[in-house]
Amino acid sequence: MPTQLSGQKMFLAGNWVNGDRIIEVRDPQDNSIIDTVPAASAEDMMKCIEEAKVGAKIAASMPVHERMRIISAAANYIEQHSVEYARTIAREGSKTIREATKEVERCVETLRICAEETRRIHGETIPFDQVPGSENRVGYYYRFPIGIIGAITPFNDPLNLVAHKVGPAIASGNAIIVKPATVTPLSALMLAKAFAHAGLPSKILSVITGFGSEIGDVLVTHPAIRMISFTGGMEAGEEIVRKAGLKKISMELGSNSPVIVLEDANVEEAVESTVSGAFWAAGQNCLGVQRIYVQETIMDQFETLFVKRTTQYNIGDKQSEQTDMGPLITEKEAMRVEKLVNEACEKGAVLLTGGIRNGAFYSPTVLKNIPEDCLIAKEEIFGPVVLLYQVSDVDTAIEKSNDVNYGLQAGIFTKNIDKAHKAITKMDVGGIMINDSSDYRIDAMPFGGVKKSGLGREGIKFAIQEMTEPKVVCFKLSNSTFSY
Ligand code: NAP
Repeated sequence: MPTQLSGQKMFLAGNWVNGDRIIEVRDPQDNSIIDTVPAASAEDMMKCIEEAKVGAKIAASMPVHERMRIISAAANYIEQHSVEYARTIAREGSKTIREATKEVERCVETLRICAEETRRIHGETIPFDQVPGSENRVGYYYRFPIGIIGAITPFNDPLNLVAHKVGPAIASGNAIIVKPATVTPLSALMLAKAFAHAGLPSKILSVITGFGSEIGDVLVTHPAIRMISFTGGMEAGEEIVRKAGLKKISMELGSNSPVIVLEDANVEEAVESTVSGAFWAAGQNCLGVQRIYVQETIMDQFETLFVKRTTQYNIGDKQSEQTDMGPLITEKEAMRVEKLVNEACEKGAVLLTGGIRNGAFYSPTVLKNIPEDCLIAKEEIFGPVVLLYQVSDVDTAIEKSNDVNYGLQAGIFTKNIDKAHKAITKMDVGGIMINDSSDYRIDAMPFGGVKKSGLGREGIKFAIQEMTEPKVVCFKLSNSTFSY
């Protein structure tokens, strides 16, 4: 099919504008150019921040019913154009069309939850008379917007993860500037289109396309930006935290999630769930399954079924409904994963299946007997590679699960509630799924990690908390509150 380049503009404070330079957006499947977006400059970002200062005032003064109407209208627009949105995700990113369609459905749901949560941003009364001398005081606190939020987003969920920042920001009366990943800017621009169509007043939202290395610092360090909401890798996250200065920080970072499978589990179900969790989005998923700890009595059965299911995976054209897994986001990323697997194998890991690279495609890969001293034993792979470990009992599995720097989500398969509860209390993670893999999330739940997996929580209600601050109101009355 001939490529039709439309040459996208970026969305600066309500206006669609060009830049002096462009970025080519490529389909990782065949490296073809699918579109271009402007490469914004530091000056563009400065202008954008100046406009957002006005936008923050407009946003804060927008009544709740109007915020709800706009967010709902944006959700409806995306739902009505869901095929177009899914195609874009599946072209610029590495998701298959089935995975992309699911992401669009989730984005609509995310925005609908945002619209609902807008009416629930409230405070509570404060019993000031608990302190002697304050008997004649009454009051309360309520939550108010913080101003301008700088959002920086990754490539792997290029629509819904942007909606997880834009929706709560608008719901809570803030202005927001989004810098999407350079490789997947089109879906974020389409989200801006939905909000423009929904009638969002200009200056509240900007989606500025450009390289993090060129425009990131301006956004991160500018004193008018009151919060940085970042989703991405741990290295970039740590750099941003160092530079940001005195502002709120929300960090949704990476992980190498563990799943424990005990001997009393339903093994078929555990295999189905962990295979899907390991290879969703070609393993480029922050809560994807990377390490599986299987009790020794069922190890052979689990391994056989897991490898069999993995080899049934259909790898290929992302736009085909029959495809289970597409390419990695770039050939460079596939080469990085290949190098990690090769290093593990050279040090003694056993390759059970996979390990083959073809351009940006890397076959679903299963390893066992992974030596402690190879990188993938402790670091995030962010590719379609899963590590099988044999363990004697639940205590060893928990101990090994925790022996990494990350802690986003985990899973445990067991019918024993005592063992499940032990995992719940002892595992260092932000979420634990019982009889499911780590790769389970709904958009309304608190989502985030401990240790190097992040700071703060997303999930609409929780993001709104982070994006607002309490303001205390206290009335000093002429009579005591107890004198009526
Ligand atoms: P990344 O390389 O860290 O990039 C993420 C975003 O940060 C991009 O927009 C990037 O811009 C920008 N950026 C990079 N360095 C920056 C800097 N110094 N200052 C300002 N902006 C900067 O991550 P990725 O490869 O896109 O995504 C993969 C990572 O995200 C994985 O580690 C994954 O686990 C994590 N992730 C976490 C969650 C979660 O919710 N916990 C969800 C999804 C993904 P450019 O594109 O221009 O470089």
